[in-house]
Amino acid sequence: MPPVFRFAPSPNGYLHLGHAYSALLNFDLARMSGGRLLLRIEDIDTARCRPEFEAAIDEDLGWLGIAWESPVRRQSEHLADYRQALEKLSAQGLIYPSFESRAEIASLVAQREAHAPWPRDPDGAPLYPGTAKLLSPDARAGLIESGVPYALRLDMTAACARCGELGWLERGAGPDGETGRVAARPEAWGDVILARKETPTSYHLAVVVDDALQGVTEVVRGQDLFHATGVHRLLQQLLGLPSPAYRHHGLIPDASGRKLSKSTASTGLRELRAEGATPADIRRLVGLA
Ligand code: GLU
Repeated sequence: MPPVFRFAPSPNGYLHLGHAYSALLNFDLARMSGGRLLLRIEDIDTARCRPEFEAAIDEDLGWLGIAWESPVRRQSEHLADYRQALEKLSAQGLIYPSFESRAEIASLVAQREAHAPWPRDPDGAPLYPGTAKLLSPDARAGLIESGVPYALRLDMTAACARCGELGWLERGAGPDGETGRVAARPEAWGDVILARKETPTSYHLAVVVDDALQGVTEVVRGQDLFHATGVHRLLQQLLGLPSPAYRHHGLIPDASGRKLSKSTASTGLRELRAEGATPADIRRLVGLA
């Protein structure tokens, strides 16, 4: 069976050099290994994703000389798949609703931090304090009935207890040089959100379900997602899904050494193209000449 790669951008802005690097690396690795390359549009965040950004992704990737298979999977068209996965986790008793707003969570964390340091996730955000896990079934039902918005969270302690030690094959490297067989540390994220009242999924859940449904065997993506892979391994295990191999690649910094963002015009593919850059120039700029 040929290896299956995918490039999975979110259409919430225009592509920059960092995306070009990831897409070209996926394309090159697929070609070199006689593999397939899929494109997946991660558009579950309907507030930020726009059709014109998706059209621009198509155009920019085509301009770079990248070819991918049809049909393209658009996450917004597959909400039933994610709902089903969520139900599977819920049936295992691993999901609970939390009703606090962001501001309420921040204030709960501040209260705790006044006494002792409070743990943060690998992205630097404070862990959810788990308050809603203590609500009685009646209190939960009452809040849901009265229309209070909620997020559905994974009970991380229970989920980890069910799965034991997990790891993955890292063909690239993590931020601290982790490579080869690496240990998953999903507990570092606490009770992650897997869905919201109005959206039956989240990045973590959708990426895991889609990689499995699309038969992806090689995930090649930026090092900023290295630690998230711990959560992905845990979800794969809980849902009985296979685990691909991972290759986390270095990030292309901007001129001041910071991570690129979609708003950085100076490294946007459209801007570079308008200034006369060729696809070969882009390859050179990201070190893939
Ligand atoms: N959609 C994610 C992003 O644009 C990438 C997800 C992944 O490659 O797993 O950052």
